[in-house]
Amino acid sequence: MTLPNIITIDGPAGSGKSSVCSALARELGYLFVDTGAFYRAVTLAAIRISVEADEAQIVELAKRSNFDISKDRYDDDVYTIWLNGEDVTSAVRSVEVEACVSQVSAMPKVREVLNEKYRQLAKRGKVIMAGRDIGTVVLPDADLKIYLDASPEVRAGRRVKQRQATGQPADYAAILANLKERDSIDSQRSVAPLRRPEDAVYLDTDDLDIEGVVSKIKQLVAAWQPRTQPNTEVE
Ligand code: C5P
Repeated sequence: MTLPNIITIDGPAGSGKSSVCSALARELGYLFVDTGAFYRAVTLAAIRISVEADEAQIVELAKRSNFDISKDRYDDDVYTIWLNGEDVTSAVRSVEVEACVSQVSAMPKVREVLNEKYRQLAKRGKVIMAGRDIGTVVLPDADLKIYLDASPEVRAGRRVKQRQATGQPADYAAILANLKERDSIDSQRSVAPLRRPEDAVYLDTDDLDIEGVVSKIKQLVAAWQPRTQPNTEVE
């Protein structure tokens, strides 16, 4: 069976990309690259310098910094995010980072620097890359493209559960407001807005759990043929 070398999974915040991709990566033996985590890491680095850091300073930071993602030693579905050798997995999920990350990721030059890093990672092959513009801008020639969607309310509910599971504070109304604000900034920005790639398979996950989404994507992977991407909604 020929498998797609590069799979892209785009979608809004809370659409389940991270959970779905880590499970898929484990089951298929792929490397999972969570591009949102790298935007979060740059944002964290910027906040540490100053919340008033400007684009030029942040671009410099992005260029100078080393980002990496690796599997946890004990749990295949948990990924560690590294910023210059420091484990920032929890820090990048903080409320402070969430409040600023969309502004940082809207900076075109910051995107240029990170896109280059993502394309280098994709060269390793057998990669699942998740984000907002991976199928449209970062890897437009990817073999299989998926767009995951869900309503803001369902996505906020999932975030609340995730936060509670890790003992973090979770206020549904505040999380919903932040998701809607990020959706709006991410889809309206002039550079690489959140958009469904024309050649992506659209999956509405409102009524699906993680296993359900993973199983649908595995069907797509199994049915994948070189140069004939499916372009339909999956039932
Ligand atoms: O996916 P996650 O919610 O962790 O992403 C954090 C933020 O990073 C998003 O709200 C978005 O502003 C930005 N992002 C982006 N392009 C990507 C991935 C994430 O602009 N490819």
